[in-house]
Amino acid sequence: MTTYNCDVLIIGGGMVGMCIAHQLLERQIAKSIVVLDKESELGLHSSGRNSGVLHAGLYYKPGSIKAKVCVDGARRLRAWIVERNIYLNTCGKVIVPPRQELDGQLDLLAERGKANGATVEFWDEQQLRELIPEACTSSGRALWSPNTAVVKPIKVVKRLREELQEHGVLFLIGKSEWSAEPKHRLIRLAKDEQVSYGHLINCAGLQSDRIAHQFGVGREYTLLPFKGLYWQLKPECPIQPRSNLYPVPDLNVPFLGVHFTPSADPNPLISIGPTATPAWGRENYRGIDALEPAMAASNLAVLARQYFANSGGFRRYVHEQAFLAFPPLLLRAAQQLIPAVRAEHIELSQKVGIRSQLFNRNTQRLEDDFLCLPGPASTHVMNAISPAFTASFALSDLILDEASQRMEFG
Ligand SMILES: Cc1cc2nc3c(=O)[nH]c(=O)nc-3n(C[C@H](O)[C@H](O)[C@H](O)COP(=O)(O)OP(=O)(O)OC[C@H]3O[C@@H](n4cnc5c(N)ncnc54)[C@H](O)[C@@H]3O)c2cc1C
Repeated sequence: MTTYNCDVLIIGGGMVGMCIAHQLLERQIAKSIVVLDKESELGLHSSGRNSGVLHAGLYYKPGSIKAKVCVDGARRLRAWIVERNIYLNTCGKVIVPPRQELDGQLDLLAERGKANGATVEFWDEQQLRELIPEACTSSGRALWSPNTAVVKPIKVVKRLREELQEHGVLFLIGKSEWSAEPKHRLIRLAKDEQVSYGHLINCAGLQSDRIAHQFGVGREYTLLPFKGLYWQLKPECPIQPRSNLYPVPDLNVPFLGVHFTPSADPNPLISIGPTATPAWGRENYRGIDALEPAMAASNLAVLARQYFANSGGFRRYVHEQAFLAFPPLLLRAAQQLIPAVRAEHIELSQKVGIRSQLFNRNTQRLEDDFLCLPGPASTHVMNAISPAFTASFALSDLILDEASQRMEFG
């Protein structure tokens, strides 16, 4: 029997798990750290499959955890990326109202942005057209966020893992079969291996609720996966926006609407998306892989109830976003931002991600903010949705401020 002993065991080697490992070392909270992941490569889920946008902090309600950590997290991640010469596309972002009645939302976003410490500027149509000649705004106004940037997320994940390994963090990867014995602070792996820990931190993204439930934590929560498909502009398309172009979002739902994003390359490829369609499995990225019919059926029932109750304005999400996997509807959403885009300009991208959106059965609402719950000798990061990639260093500090008070090892 091989036993790995550690101060802190992190389940999940995504951006959140690895940034927590980074901050545990940086703040000298723990000496021995193990990261356990079920996949034999890191970055196979959200952290390697997202849009790579370093959000500037405009959307989040002042006082929310997202608001607290996004601006600081983006600043720190950006500095980390620049120090390592990883290519960063500092292209900014412009937000436009696709319909006149949404114009007032620009003021709300600007207020939120300023309150959160972000830089924002109102633009008129001419300024918008100077940046993206084909873009349109229904009201003649747009909001400019100069500090939004784009990176290739997988490069960040790979580099972070290398550095953590160099600093002594042990990665146990490809460990899909394990069972927890919370009372004994023990994780039993297959093949005569086990990990004995002082404190466990659950950062398992799309599976985090299932793991929390094994520790008797957060039983009122279940995860609803939403698939994010991307299309892209063909390289020969005459329209190639040089900046992120987003619609004013519906602030009642945690999805930002279909947008144009240039990739982090010297000759950027422009993606359109991601959609936010109910997924048929938490890891059902393609075809019939990893289908979970029972989960999908029960989630559809939840979503139908949300629709009929119009909880949190949910009907608008269904009407405007739930069916965007159908190309004509996606094209129509894209044309609200750039009317000249045609079906022949776009193609389906290989990129696809699944959002791990938490649903609270007690309140019957989707959780809008990050959520982290304490458990027996453990901490459970339950709703690390966007912008958790951007915010990961600052979010990790916030999680550790609380969790380190409960850590017992030495
Ligand atoms: C389509 C899409 C676009 C997005 N765009 C952006 C964006 O532009 N900007 C932004 O800031 N955020 C964005 N996000 C959100 C961002 O990607 C996530 O918030 C972030 O990556 C969450 O990181 P994580 O470490 O919690 O999860 P993950 O990256 O999913 O990591 C979880 C890890 O846990 C492992 N795991 C799961 N179950 C187990 C188990 N039983 N045992 C061991 N290991 C396990 C998995 O293999 C995985 O490696 C986007 C997300 C999606 C899906």
